[in-house]
Amino acid sequence: MAAPQNLEQPRANTLNENFERERELSFLENLYLPEIFKALWYTLKQMFLPKVTLRYPEEKWDPPAIFRGRPVLVEDEGKERCVACGLCARACPPLAISMQANEDSDDPKERYPDFFEINMLRCIYCGYCEEVCPEEAIVMSKDYDIVFESREEAIYDKQRLLVPKEDLKERLDFLRNYRNRQFGQFWDFQEENNIHSVRDRDREFNSGLSLVEMLEQQEHNDNVEAESPWAR
Ligand code: SF4
Ligand code: SF4
Repeated sequence: MAAPQNLEQPRANTLNENFERERELSFLENLYLPEIFKALWYTLKQMFLPKVTLRYPEEKWDPPAIFRGRPVLVEDEGKERCVACGLCARACPPLAISMQANEDSDDPKERYPDFFEINMLRCIYCGYCEEVCPEEAIVMSKDYDIVFESREEAIYDKQRLLVPKEDLKERLDFLRNYRNRQFGQFWDFQEENNIHSVRDRDREFNSGLSLVEMLEQQEHNDNVEAESPWAR
């Protein structure tokens, strides 16, 4: 019967003289000085290279459009684009979004969020809310400078979340470009689709195509989508 293994005393480790893969250090390696001088030389070289650090917070970094900062609601002509469909709240992995829908029959958009909140302590900046939003109503902004002193302050309400679309132009243009590439010819993003009404949909929807032509168009679009590098 095999002797019980003594877990307190490992049989082989790097301090063991018999450890077969241990390498003998040369005289210079044992001195350590060459390695210290190499490190000093590397540090000296860095001192003369262009600086890449910023004096934050006096100097602010302007992130590129691909950057995912805090999610914001797009304000279009003085009101939110959001139609309170709830998709973003459903897709949000840490359940950071809560909202309540309301209706306004005088508004062509009909539905709007009575309240819309994002708990920024939960948000993980994944961007899923932006991905699923059918109205391009919630997007990831460039804002990374997020500070709060209490849990209550970390819950951003609708007023704090709303940002005019003019200030989000770079991100909106980036998304349009990215989505059009993603869907190939199939997806031609139209901004005017953002503000629409289900009530008016059938009245306004007229592609000018017969049913057969629409089916042919769909088949063509499906083929384009299948050939797209994004589909692989
Ligand atoms: S970025 Fe992600 S975690 Fe944050 S609100 Fe959107 S879906 Fe939720
Ligand atoms: S932000 Fe977009 S996905 Fe979220 S409720 Fe509003 S319209 Fe729907």
